[in-house]
Amino acid sequence: MTDAILRKNDQVEITIEDMGSEGEGIGRYNGYALFVKDTAIGDRALVQITKAGKSYGYARLVKLIAPSPYRVTPRCPIAAKCGGCQLQHIDYARQLEFKENKVRSCLMRIGGFSDFYMEPICGMEEPYYYRNKSQFPVGRARDGRILIGFYAGRTHSIIDTEHCYIGAEVNDKIISFMRSFIERYKIEPYNENEHKGLLRHIVTRVGYSTGEVMVCLVINARQFPHKEELIEGLLKIEGMKSICLNVNMEKTNVILGKEIIPLWGEPYITDRIGSVSYRVSPLSFYQVNPVQTKKLYDIALEYADLHGDETVWDLYCGIGTISLYMAKKARKVYGVEIVPEAIEDARANAKINGIDNAEFFVGAAEEVLPRKYKEDNIYADVIVVDPPRKGCEQSLLDTILAMAPKRVVYVSCDPATLARDLKYLCEKDYELVKVRAVDQFGHSVHVESVALIVRRSC
Ligand code: SAH
Repeated sequence: MTDAILRKNDQVEITIEDMGSEGEGIGRYNGYALFVKDTAIGDRALVQITKAGKSYGYARLVKLIAPSPYRVTPRCPIAAKCGGCQLQHIDYARQLEFKENKVRSCLMRIGGFSDFYMEPICGMEEPYYYRNKSQFPVGRARDGRILIGFYAGRTHSIIDTEHCYIGAEVNDKIISFMRSFIERYKIEPYNENEHKGLLRHIVTRVGYSTGEVMVCLVINARQFPHKEELIEGLLKIEGMKSICLNVNMEKTNVILGKEIIPLWGEPYITDRIGSVSYRVSPLSFYQVNPVQTKKLYDIALEYADLHGDETVWDLYCGIGTISLYMAKKARKVYGVEIVPEAIEDARANAKINGIDNAEFFVGAAEEVLPRKYKEDNIYADVIVVDPPRKGCEQSLLDTILAMAPKRVVYVSCDPATLARDLKYLCEKDYELVKVRAVDQFGHSVHVESVALIVRRSC
């Protein structure tokens, strides 16, 4: 197509048939795709073009002609404004269908797979109050009011929030206390335009099976005033186990800085998944939905098909969660992770659980694995990878091919990079056996999945 068939400000009627990666509706006008915010699959809508590109365009909703049967009233009154949930206005069963299709279509479109077994998506029984970690930006409104809440979609304006329907319920008490503390002691919220002010974010973590609570204040300084009063107030909240500061004096969108200053208690909380206990520090990654994480790890364990004599490499291992989950069924597990604090947690976690067949290395997986393979000729029966959204580096995939494990279990939070990486491995020596999506992030557009590929000669 050389010219857009529509121009800016044109109005057309379309049916929303799909959803984009940010939850925006996608409809077509004579084959020309339009992305429309605030719509749901199944809506018949009058839309106005805001931007017309060559092969697709953007439009805004003018009028809902026939609302989708999948629309529901969001429980959260600010769901439409807040950037945290993109799908609360869509029936949960339909959200799951959307996520499963997203994984399937990435595997087909990007991965080039046509014949593979997809198990039904593993959904949540109760898609509310599931998040064990929340990060509240703190700011000031034009009229001077303190704002604590979440960023609006795609912006940094803070939507003031009293109650979040997907976060831990104890957050209400923490935020309510912090509001009065900030006002009483005139704590200046951080202003990111001017790079001035003190308090940037309030980060909370809750161990769902232990009830332990952590509060970590991200500050643009190395000192925090009225620490005693802060601690005294937070200790009134049930389960409080750890209070700390995180120093972030950079001009950056990254929430956490590198330095932690413990104020009260241990600088970590403990949680349990299945029968394994995990210590979690503020800088360590830990899956946000503990109920679904158990299901995710059970699927990964099932796909790994361990019998007790295997050597397993768990790459991007975080605090050793999957490694220790698998160590009970394997001869030896090695974990690799780039964040040193997470590896400290992983080693402590092995001890806490009396696991002595797990060993951990700090470093980038794409550097550690090729080096160990070259120098020590390491071996694996099973390799598990669980990379961040950008997926695995090719040098890592090449080392996996060279190591030739029987099975690779790929845990992914981005189906597009999952499909890209599986394509690379399956064009060589592997075959995609099965995939299962797991909903870790109800009401958001994100989806987790687990895939099993096996070596062809096996
Ligand atoms: N498997 C873990 C963590 C998965 S999240 C769990 O289920 O909890 C991805 C992890 O990869 C994070 O801990 C992140 O710090 C780490 N990471 C990011 N880039 C990496 C790299 N290049 N090499 C190794 N680890 C990396």
